[in-house]
Amino acid sequence: MKEQRLEVFQDIVPLLCSWFEKDHREMYWRSHPLPYYVWISEIMLQQTRVEAVRGYFAQFIKELPDIKSLAIVDTDKLMKLWEGLGYYNRAKNLKKAANIILEEYNGIMPSEYKELLKLPGIGEYTAGAIASIAFGQAEPVVDGNVLRVLMRLTENHEDILKEKVKRELREDLKKIIPEEKPGIFNQALMELGAVVCVPNGLPKCSKCPIKELCQAKKQGIETDVVYAQSLPFKAPKKERKKEDWTVFLFEKDGKIAVGKRGEKGLLANMWEFPMLSGCLKKSEVELLLYEAGLSFEKLEPLGKAKHIFSHIEWHMTGYFIRLRGNPIVAEWADYPMERELMPVLEDLLKDRCWETPKMIEREYSLPSAFHVYKELLKKIGYTGGQKN
Ligand code: SF4
Repeated sequence: MKEQRLEVFQDIVPLLCSWFEKDHREMYWRSHPLPYYVWISEIMLQQTRVEAVRGYFAQFIKELPDIKSLAIVDTDKLMKLWEGLGYYNRAKNLKKAANIILEEYNGIMPSEYKELLKLPGIGEYTAGAIASIAFGQAEPVVDGNVLRVLMRLTENHEDILKEKVKRELREDLKKIIPEEKPGIFNQALMELGAVVCVPNGLPKCSKCPIKELCQAKKQGIETDVVYAQSLPFKAPKKERKKEDWTVFLFEKDGKIAVGKRGEKGLLANMWEFPMLSGCLKKSEVELLLYEAGLSFEKLEPLGKAKHIFSHIEWHMTGYFIRLRGNPIVAEWADYPMERELMPVLEDLLKDRCWETPKMIEREYSLPSAFHVYKELLKKIGYTGGQKN
């Protein structure tokens, strides 16, 4: 069985390479495969489609053209360049790795797979991609696209989320990857999974260079949606944890309150709008403001929004609140209130920056979880500074 699989893998090498060499999508990092470009593009491509990455990549290398500029970039600027891509730890790891390359490798990216693996944020897949594409080393890559093609090719129904399954495939690929063009082979396999043996919908088997060898094709996968969805097989994941949040867009004199999240945990060090745990009703927000002694001119619900992280779902409800007076130095003692809510509101407005929406757009990296509220702000007619 294992030998048969190896034989099939061996047979696809020339077919895939000549298919890719004849025709593939143009990408700047493909036509300029410098180690730095391959690295940055591969990290971006882990979370976003090629079309979306093109713009981010161009801007990123314009601002940070090399390893040195990445190592010394201000974290806020880096976060701004990464804004909208999500998985912000990946950007932080890029900077950490750039510093290590600067200090321990004289600013030159290591070419050895094992050395690459030592860098933060570089796992087997990225190390394989850099080593093979930028340095011509015979190291395979195994990503979602590659797994889909190979599992269909050999009609293998094992769970692709299992490390053992990936490891064995990698070991087999290592035996057949062509020494003379490892980067071409890896890119061909990934490209086939991205544009022919596609993740959603039916595979385009009639256009596939390896269709004659494919077991799933023989079983009729190109016309059977249910079969196509079941291969490759992934064991169901645990359900995501759900969290409710109330997001506040406090406005004062044309400026909106934003603050920095803590140094640890989800979206660490990113900017956010003030938020409280739980989905509060308008009447509860009114009560909260009253009890905290915050007077306001306007309180408008912004509706609900949902954001999905890999392991958590945020269910949010938002409010736009135009404050009167100085909210930060509110004289708590002057108000005859029940005191237990005071600390909540104090915390909510403590250490906040007040900025115009334009400045927030330009200078602050707000994670995409909050973008829906930035947009809703425009919908209710608020663009900053003007009263509606
Ligand atoms: Fe995928 Fe069809 Fe090609 Fe098989 S023949 S690898 S199922 S596109």
